[in-house]
Amino acid sequence: MKIAFIGLGNMGGGMAANLVKAGHEVHAFDLSQTALDRAKSQGCIAHAEIRSALDGVDAVVTMLPNGSIVEQVYENEVIGHAPISAILIDCSTIDVDTARSVANFAGNQGYAMVDAPVSGGIAAANAGTLTFMVGGAHDDFERAQGLLSAMGKAVIHAGSSGAGQAAKICNNMLLGATMIATCEAFVMAGKLGLDLQTFFDISSKASGQNWSMTSYCPVPGVGPQSPADNEYKGGFATALMLKDLRLAMEAARSAGANVPMGERATALYEAFEKSGAGGLDFSAIIRTL
Ligand code: NAD
Repeated sequence: MKIAFIGLGNMGGGMAANLVKAGHEVHAFDLSQTALDRAKSQGCIAHAEIRSALDGVDAVVTMLPNGSIVEQVYENEVIGHAPISAILIDCSTIDVDTARSVANFAGNQGYAMVDAPVSGGIAAANAGTLTFMVGGAHDDFERAQGLLSAMGKAVIHAGSSGAGQAAKICNNMLLGATMIATCEAFVMAGKLGLDLQTFFDISSKASGQNWSMTSYCPVPGVGPQSPADNEYKGGFATALMLKDLRLAMEAARSAGANVPMGERATALYEAFEKSGAGGLDFSAIIRTL
């Protein structure tokens, strides 16, 4: 397939490289020359402007920082300029309302569009092991599925337009809250005189078991390898967790959902980021307890 890929940063760079490896012809555009040069070195065809990257493509994939950029790129640059037969796939994490309004805008001009945010960080983007949650009509999901499979280990249809973003932020709101609860339990276990490895051995096989404990333990030297074992470097940055929690709070307000644990997790991550920890892995919040 001939694909336009827009936004070749930390995530998009690895994703586009995996499309090239799968045999696709990838036409790349990014505002950053460094990102574009890296894409070129990985086999993409670099373009100095979006419009030329869109010429004759079968699909457009975007991996951009936020909703207002996604809206601007699609409404001003892609829609009306990409071939009408091209499927539009936005993999960025953005708010549900913007995802739906951009997809509606595209649909009104005769384009098929899906939102397809990802779970998994930079390592998964490079390795082609992301999980995609896709919102859009069933036929459009099926059109996007093969292409997304070249970049991920799982591609799941979440429902209609915006449902991918809804699944993503509900999942990450749960993750933010369970990480803090897991950190609290470990700190309290230590204060009560329990050996932390022993607490892990018990709780990871008891009803407190959860992903933040068993796959991503916030305590150095306990459980499988995680950012805690590398002074909380790498992994999923606190600033990105906070971005997702803020999107979740916006969606909760818009949907009238009551999310007291999500609100508390957002407030705690806001305070943690303000302390200068935005670049640390989100499990480093254990240091504040
Ligand atoms: P990034 O900042 O590294 O990359 C974004 C890229 O978009 C940059 O290269 C930037 O130059 C480019 N860009 C910005 N505006 C543009 C425009 N108008 N036209 C073309 N290019 C433009 O960010 P990232 O870490 O790759 O994240 C991208 C998306 O993936 C975000 O929505 C983020 O929330 C989501 N995400 C990130 C991670 C992660 O671990 N980094 C994990 C899951 C989801």
